[in-house]
Amino acid sequence: MTTQNELRTAGIHHITAFVRDAQATVDFYAGILGLRLVKKTINFDAPEVYHLYFGDEQGSPGTIITFFPSAGSRLGRVGAGQVGITTYVVPEGTLDFWRERLAKFNVEVKETTRFGETYLQFGDPDNMQAELVARKEGAASTWSHGGVPADKAIKGFGGAVLFSLAPSRTAQLLEQVMGLEKVGEDAGYARFQSFADIGNIIDVNVEEVERGAGGAGTVHHIAWRAKDFAEHERWRAHVEGSGYQPTPIVDRQYFNAIYFREEGGILFEIATDPPGFARDEEQTQLGEKLMLPEWYEKYRDQIVRGLPPIAVRVLEEDQI
Ligand code: ZN
Repeated sequence: MTTQNELRTAGIHHITAFVRDAQATVDFYAGILGLRLVKKTINFDAPEVYHLYFGDEQGSPGTIITFFPSAGSRLGRVGAGQVGITTYVVPEGTLDFWRERLAKFNVEVKETTRFGETYLQFGDPDNMQAELVARKEGAASTWSHGGVPADKAIKGFGGAVLFSLAPSRTAQLLEQVMGLEKVGEDAGYARFQSFADIGNIIDVNVEEVERGAGGAGTVHHIAWRAKDFAEHERWRAHVEGSGYQPTPIVDRQYFNAIYFREEGGILFEIATDPPGFARDEEQTQLGEKLMLPEWYEKYRDQIVRGLPPIAVRVLEEDQI
């Protein structure tokens, strides 16, 4: 059934979600969580919609959360067939800082424990589920914004919690095709780990979870890392040889991508680490300008007119 697996993903490359309001999303992920807006572009398949990328200062793979904001769109329901919770990792000893910070912005926090780790769980403005966990692993952030100094800032993804419609099939895929290692079970989840030190811990529900519905506030897909273009082609063959139906390789400007639906209902992508977000903007200016792929440049004026203006700003609560 599966081909012999010489390939192992380093872990999460990026996670992409649907939201409603572009500015509210910028205010939450940059303003409150302190991530850097590293790319402001459009949905290449729907140019009337922004595609906003947030991450660490460089936009490193393993730190990138991306959004398609669509005003007035229907709210979805988080559930099986989706990435249920997006996990961000912060430095050890900073959970008190984050507890206070989230309270200051009236973000309601639920505290929970899995695998001996404390998680601060909360919803974003569209109630997409996120959580913070403190770990030693992962390079320290070099980015500070508003009330989030670099030494307390999010380092990237700790991982993600997958809500699968077929947990044992998803588990098998993670181990046998993606090359993750199962490291244990606790609190209703099986835990899988990749070799990178960021975006590397994946929890999958063991018991049944109610089916989700796509829409604002839900994750559209999770992307896994391929280290270069040559490995990416091998990944495509490997995924196909394992019985899945990957798309052809698609040029997403900042990485190449393939997509396939896994048996638990979750849309998987495999994305290349190169070329990255500095391919069309200086490192110091990432995210400042609306970037369009070449084939959309001639429609720039029309595209800009259709998009709501957005700005990264220091929020009022941080100005005191
Ligand atoms: Zn993607």
